[in-house]
Amino acid sequence: MDRRLFITAAVTSALAVAANRAVIAATDSNLVKGNFPSIDKTREEWQKLLNSQQYKVLFEEATERPWTSALNDEKREGTYICIACYLPLFLSETKFDSGTGWPSFYQAIDGNAETKRDWKLLFPRTEYHCARCGGHQGHIFDDGPEPTGKRWCNNGVALRFIPSSESLPVLRV
Ligand SMILES: [Zn+2]
Repeated sequence: MDRRLFITAAVTSALAVAANRAVIAATDSNLVKGNFPSIDKTREEWQKLLNSQQYKVLFEEATERPWTSALNDEKREGTYICIACYLPLFLSETKFDSGTGWPSFYQAIDGNAETKRDWKLLFPRTEYHCARCGGHQGHIFDDGPEPTGKRWCNNGVALRFIPSSESLPVLRV
């Protein structure tokens, strides 16, 4: 890479980092664990707000078929929010191509996803869900990339992507 190209790349990545910092700062100050408004909807209320596939994944812990989510190919900068309550769960900078057919991230926004043990298969898995509405999102595996080594394997149907050019929707109440 020649010097001019290097400088352009450095400036571009510095801007990208600054943009991401802004997103993180916004989520940090407003939405840290326990600092987002609670939500208390019945299953029936969620069933009316979501389509049947979304409802089955979020509230019956179903898993979508791999390679069915358009979010697999989403590469823009932005934020992935819970499709049920709109709490931001992942930043695009933590997304990577896992080759599994599900949108994958190496880290969730701190405090916005909670985990529990899941014994649905013969071996234990770590299930995670939205810390606000409790909707099931996916499972965490130990074969992810640096810096965490984790793979947060998410059902695409449980997320909505908001590009950084748009503002985040107000949390559902
Ligand atoms: Zn949620």
